[in-house]
Amino acid sequence: MKILILGVNGFIGHHLVNRILAEKPDWQVFGMDLGTERIGAALHNPRFNFLEGDISINKEWIEYHIKKCDVIMPLVAIATPKAYVEDPIGVYHLDFEMNVNIVKQCVKYHKRVVFPSTSEVYGACVDPEFDEDESYLVVGPIRKERWIYSCCKQLLDRVIYAYGTRGSLEFTLFRPFNWIGPRLDSLDTAKEGSSRVVTQFIAELLLKRPINLVDGGRQKRCFTYVDDGISALMKILENNGNVCANQIINIGNPENECSVKELAAVLKKLFQEHPDHQQDSVYSDIIEISADVYYGKGYQDIYTRKPRIEKARTLLGWEPKIGLEESLRLTLNSFLEENQAAAL
Ligand code: UDP
Repeated sequence: MKILILGVNGFIGHHLVNRILAEKPDWQVFGMDLGTERIGAALHNPRFNFLEGDISINKEWIEYHIKKCDVIMPLVAIATPKAYVEDPIGVYHLDFEMNVNIVKQCVKYHKRVVFPSTSEVYGACVDPEFDEDESYLVVGPIRKERWIYSCCKQLLDRVIYAYGTRGSLEFTLFRPFNWIGPRLDSLDTAKEGSSRVVTQFIAELLLKRPINLVDGGRQKRCFTYVDDGISALMKILENNGNVCANQIINIGNPENECSVKELAAVLKKLFQEHPDHQQDSVYSDIIEISADVYYGKGYQDIYTRKPRIEKARTLLGWEPKIGLEESLRLTLNSFLEENQAAAL
């Protein structure tokens, strides 16, 4: 099978290409990205063909490879809440406009698309567990610009679904729920305060800056270890018995639910237990901050986000295996290893 991954140096992309190359000797991957810092040794693998470049510029390369490949994964997107409020037009342009063009080419050349939707599409849904085919997708007012990402992804989901139900496109939409793991975000991103919460907190611990609990940290997330997420994606790509055709599938770990406040406490404990930091003279304080001050007026939080994963269980025979503390420990250890020198 030939797979095209746009955004292959991203968090999901680089973990996926490494798993494919390790486990699927007869699969070939074609990838594009702006950078290469996460991809590592895969770059030298003869079954991986990489172009360093921008998807808004290298349109001919993309069209040629859509024609050539069997499955297309357009993973290029801005996916950090700080960016939704600071640059909503940039988010719309990249996440929606660039990607809808790729989807249209998949329609034109009759290619299967495996597309990253997001748990963010459920927004402020009040269901105790979010169901792919039943839950309402709930967003706030326009002045709360945070919702632009959710809306872009929702509209893409709807466009892809409409092509699919009319027989013009074979698709699988997957919805990651707060995946974490090695190389999630860089230290530089965290220095600007625009990392996702787990890497932001680990970076604060390393930099000896306060950990900020936005609005007290009572919001909850279900953190999913990336290796579990990638296992589900591999099954979606394999698509045995064509079970994933035109399906939307949550990929998350409902057992790993925790509040942001609990998260801060666990990460601080893990950091204090880490052999390189047991003897530190000071540790970050955990403080509270209002959302307006931390993110700006365009932000609005999401208080619960728990997936129902019956579809992933039944269609894929998949079950997440890695518990919360282990997922956090692995992510923290790897972040410290990657950034120890840079922090000094
Ligand atoms: N958050 C926080 N402090 C930070 C960064 C994030 O309290 O320094 C909160 C944020 O308000 C949100 C949650 O952590 O409720 C998760 O944020 P993240 O950026 O990981 O993305 P989300 O899960 O909202 O997509």
